[in-house]
Amino acid sequence: MKRVVFWFRRDLRLSDNVGLHEAGRAAEAVVPVFVFDTRILSREDIGGPCVAFMLECLDSLSKNLEAIGSRLIFRHGDPLVEIPKLVRETGAEAVFWNRDYEPDAIARDRAMEERGKAQGFETRHFKDTVFHEAGELRTGAGRPYVVFTPYARAWRGRPKEPIRPAFKKPCPGVGKIASWPRPSLQKLGFSSRAETPRGGEKIARGMLRRFMAGAVGSYGERRDYPAIDGTSRLSPHLRFGTISGRTVFWSAEKARAEAKPSERDDIDTFVGELIWREFYFQILAEFPHVARGAFRSEYDALGWENDARLFAAWRDGRTGYPIVDAAMRQLNQTGWMHNRLRMIVAMFLTKDLLCDWRWGEGYFMRALCDGDMSANNGGWQWSAGTGTDAAPYFRIFAPVSQSQKFDHGGDFIRRFVPELAGLSADEIHAPWQTVPTRLKSLGYPEPIVDHKDRRLRALKMYKAAKSVSAQLRGSIPR
Ligand SMILES: Cc1cc2nc3c(=O)[nH]c(=O)nc-3n(C[C@H](O)[C@H](O)[C@H](O)COP(=O)(O)OP(=O)(O)OC[C@H]3O[C@@H](n4cnc5c(N)ncnc54)[C@H](O)[C@@H]3O)c2cc1C
Repeated sequence: MKRVVFWFRRDLRLSDNVGLHEAGRAAEAVVPVFVFDTRILSREDIGGPCVAFMLECLDSLSKNLEAIGSRLIFRHGDPLVEIPKLVRETGAEAVFWNRDYEPDAIARDRAMEERGKAQGFETRHFKDTVFHEAGELRTGAGRPYVVFTPYARAWRGRPKEPIRPAFKKPCPGVGKIASWPRPSLQKLGFSSRAETPRGGEKIARGMLRRFMAGAVGSYGERRDYPAIDGTSRLSPHLRFGTISGRTVFWSAEKARAEAKPSERDDIDTFVGELIWREFYFQILAEFPHVARGAFRSEYDALGWENDARLFAAWRDGRTGYPIVDAAMRQLNQTGWMHNRLRMIVAMFLTKDLLCDWRWGEGYFMRALCDGDMSANNGGWQWSAGTGTDAAPYFRIFAPVSQSQKFDHGGDFIRRFVPELAGLSADEIHAPWQTVPTRLKSLGYPEPIVDHKDRRLRALKMYKAAKSVSAQLRGSIPR
């Protein structure tokens, strides 16, 4: 083929990019394009931090393409219109892309294939985001896995694809192709108060190198402590594809080969997290209803109280529970939150405040720079007890014990709740009990709910939903 359009989406890199590599092999010239998809940008679950991070990654991708004699073409609008238009303008014979597993993306990509057929250009798509996509790993009964442990066993037991060489093909004449100027965040209709991390392939590779040379060796032991830099922080990069899951996996394998025996379990635990990522991609692809409701339909009947005032206190980090507030402020200030804290605040919203998990899911998507429908939905449904491999509904984190256990010295709380910075480790986790008379002068709120009461209320709510669902099943005529 003479020319192929490569459509970048959540794979903003030149190295180890399957579809881009295949485009380079198939064509004399590859026209790289990114479409600012107006339908996606107007979705309620898309927020400033994600878009800000993505713009940084696009800048870096543009520079990297220019360095090899190519250029990233920007278009704005509906890809189903913009891509075929670019094909006509450039005389390309085909459009290549890497697959995405969100329900809307699957529908859009099918429509693109139809456009290709109707307008006479070829379309080819590739598995890039994961090692094993939906349908590849099945239980003995031929069904999709819905429990993580056997899924992980099957995942680990399959051979793994190697890394592809970096794309280096120049695109002669690309300077003449019309391109939308790279828009600002504001022009796209977003703003972000969060200081989001830096984007781009080089940054991601540097982070991976540092993590593999250090923290991965004690990952299992340190990953649960938000005050410590014990995790990779690669989630926004994996989300936008400035690094591939393959690169991270093979780098972990290399670290394991060189590690002391005492570190090998830590590295395995880290790989386990990469498997969670793929697990949730296959759940979303196999059970797209999770994007709208509970994986277990009996929990669609949950009688959430949905008190908007309690939700606002949670969102703003003003619940009176220091660990919850510190976590929410970390999210609002940085666009990222530590995994242990994501679980704590998600359980708190659903099981203490009795707000629908979808409220939290939506807020996370708008506030996170790594907001990813599959992992976010999976994490929320896990925490709310409505999901596949979920924490059972009666497992309810006590925020104070979680705080004492995972932020023992209170360092994380002090970093994000400066009002409490002067409190000792013994005082900081439950200040309404330890320093009740000082709360007002510290400017810190009383707890908005009593955990013990709310826990009982949550148990009642879940039990009621289960019995409604059992009654409904019983009333179906046979
Ligand atoms: C309520 C809730 C919402 C979440 N929302 C998101 C989200 O929108 N986007 C997102 O990428 N992750 C999400 N997670 C998963 C997890 O919290 C983050 O991936 C992790 O905190 C990112 O930090 P890290 O890169 O340092 O992770 P590390 O611990 O270094 O893990 C490496 C990578 O593995 C993947 N990973 C780790 N844990 C999980 C997990 N539990 N599920 C799926 N993938 C995982 C991520 O890609 C991560 O970058 C959510 C978890 C919960 C409980």
